[in-house]
Amino acid sequence: MTARRRTRQIVLPHPTNPVAVGGDAPVSVQSMTTTKTSDVEGTLQQIYALYGAGADIVRCTCNEREAAEGLAQIVPRSPVPIVADIHHQYRMALAALEAGVHCLRLNPGNIRKPEHIKAVAMECKDRGVPIRIGVNGGSLDPKLYDKYGGKVTAEAMVESAQMELAYFDEVGFDDVKISVKASNVPLMIEAYRQLSEVTDHPLHLGVTEAGPPPAGLLKATAGIAALLAEGIGDTIRYSLTADPVEEARAGRQLLEAMGLRERKGLDLIACPSCGRAEVDVIKVANDAQAALEGKNIPIQVAVMGCVVNGPGEAREADLGIAAGRRRGHLFVKGKVVKVVPEDEMVDALVEWADLIAENGVEAALAKAEDGAAAEAEKDRAALLEDKGVDANESSVHIDAIRKL
Ligand code: SF4
Repeated sequence: MTARRRTRQIVLPHPTNPVAVGGDAPVSVQSMTTTKTSDVEGTLQQIYALYGAGADIVRCTCNEREAAEGLAQIVPRSPVPIVADIHHQYRMALAALEAGVHCLRLNPGNIRKPEHIKAVAMECKDRGVPIRIGVNGGSLDPKLYDKYGGKVTAEAMVESAQMELAYFDEVGFDDVKISVKASNVPLMIEAYRQLSEVTDHPLHLGVTEAGPPPAGLLKATAGIAALLAEGIGDTIRYSLTADPVEEARAGRQLLEAMGLRERKGLDLIACPSCGRAEVDVIKVANDAQAALEGKNIPIQVAVMGCVVNGPGEAREADLGIAAGRRRGHLFVKGKVVKVVPEDEMVDALVEWADLIAENGVEAALAKAEDGAAAEAEKDRAALLEDKGVDANESSVHIDAIRKL
């Protein structure tokens, strides 16, 4: 991973949970509600669900007066900063500011009158509210589209962001983060690379209209992860055609997987299974995931299909289980602590995960059952010894090889 590119910092000014973006702030996760913003209770319910799934910031559309009125009631009850999403109508931006939102997202492709852009920027400046310049490959300013030969290019997207920044400069406003999203992953990556060369404003990463999972998840991850690995990006959003809770969860999981945020929940690792597997690894892994993920224990758990390679390969996991001769070998940090019947493997994982959550890894290791390691070693040795039926009649071939 390349060291994170240093950007200037902006702050979304929530009264009890302000979120800094850029500088040395952790990369944050965003998502967007799918409810009508005028439905105050429904929207708040979704905001809380997104917060629970890992979102640090939530965006709501502000597309009509009723939405702005809804925001006036939502904002004071939200656990996270609220961004109002504005398209076409600059008056909706002013209405959202009146509602008390913590940030605006403006699309320079569809609010184009300089006097409107500057009026919004001046109001944001007075209120100390930042703006995201949200350039979108699919809704580029037609003038730029023509200038770049009727094509959406990385250069055109970067120029769109710079034009908007120039209007903000004229009124002395620079409390800004920027996104240059496209649904085409290589184009999106190139646009962000170019943008990061010409500005130190924090960058909001995303692959727009990525589509439904799993393809949408892959596209979004490909674009966002490639840039994060280059040190580019200060806040991220997965744009999936799915329940937005999946977006928030995916964002959080990506940052945890890349070591950019501390683990908050379960990290289940499992071997891909192979001919050596002594158990249905996919089923055990899925059952373990279902049993453990609601517990919110920051723990890495391994499910391995055999005891020949499993415990060694997963020795860094806090807790794990490997299957061997119809039994499960439960291990903590690679050390076998118990041997359980195969149908009790998942229950045993849950019990020991709780134990680790309550008392820590060292206490769990101290509870290792006498003789467990020796029992496990017996299974392992027997499996290594078991050569099976020699269907290939290898001795015949070995004789032939030796005569060559
Ligand atoms: S742990 Fe065992 S079953 Fe799983 S992939 Fe490795 S060798 Fe195969």
